[in-house]
Amino acid sequence: MRLDKFLANANIGSRKEVSRMIRNKRVKVDGALIIKPNHQVSYATHVEVDGRRILLEEYIYLMLNKPEGVISSTEDGPTRTVMDLIDHPQVNEMFPVGRLDKDTTGLLLITNDGKFSHALLSPRQKVGKTYEVTLKDDVTDEDLAELETGIPLKDFTTSPAIARKLCDRKVALTIYEGKFHQVKRMFLHLGNEVTALKRIGFGGLELDEALAEGESRYLTDAEVKKLS
Ligand code: URA
Repeated sequence: MRLDKFLANANIGSRKEVSRMIRNKRVKVDGALIIKPNHQVSYATHVEVDGRRILLEEYIYLMLNKPEGVISSTEDGPTRTVMDLIDHPQVNEMFPVGRLDKDTTGLLLITNDGKFSHALLSPRQKVGKTYEVTLKDDVTDEDLAELETGIPLKDFTTSPAIARKLCDRKVALTIYEGKFHQVKRMFLHLGNEVTALKRIGFGGLELDEALAEGESRYLTDAEVKKLS
């Protein structure tokens, strides 16, 4: 990648500001002064600004415990996004893996790895997503059986889900698609209403309960491997 992009991604300044730093001879690459912003570097290149080593991580994988009231998007605007919760110098490279509704809480992966995200979201992969679903009315055994058979929605019929009753108005539900408002629509079909939705699992990962809402942490290598 270009040297100015490397530095901008490391949050040293805007593309314009870092280009000026480069031209002003403040940047060294592998010990040599470089004055061209388009000089090619990689994540492993030794880059220094004013004698300070600048490190860029090539692949970043985070687990966020999403709170209510933020949208799963990278767009700037008046509404707070999940990216506003990420305190990392390379946050501008990252994006959420899929979407949760504004009022849904829980496990959301954040990464800068497009291939990783694409594979997890591919319908062919049938990655399981588990939700703790709180409902307005009691759940019946017939409801559980219907969920485990497949629910005919307007646009598609859901794959057989795994539904486990946690108490009268709470279900742990694992689904294998990720369509718009899917869980809410599934329960609407059953004549019930979701009053709270929390994602507690994604592709074999469980939400780290040590994370308070709004907090994130790096995935471990083993967790990344589990998902890859
Ligand atoms: N299903 C929903 O209805 N909403 C979500 O946020 C996720 C799954």
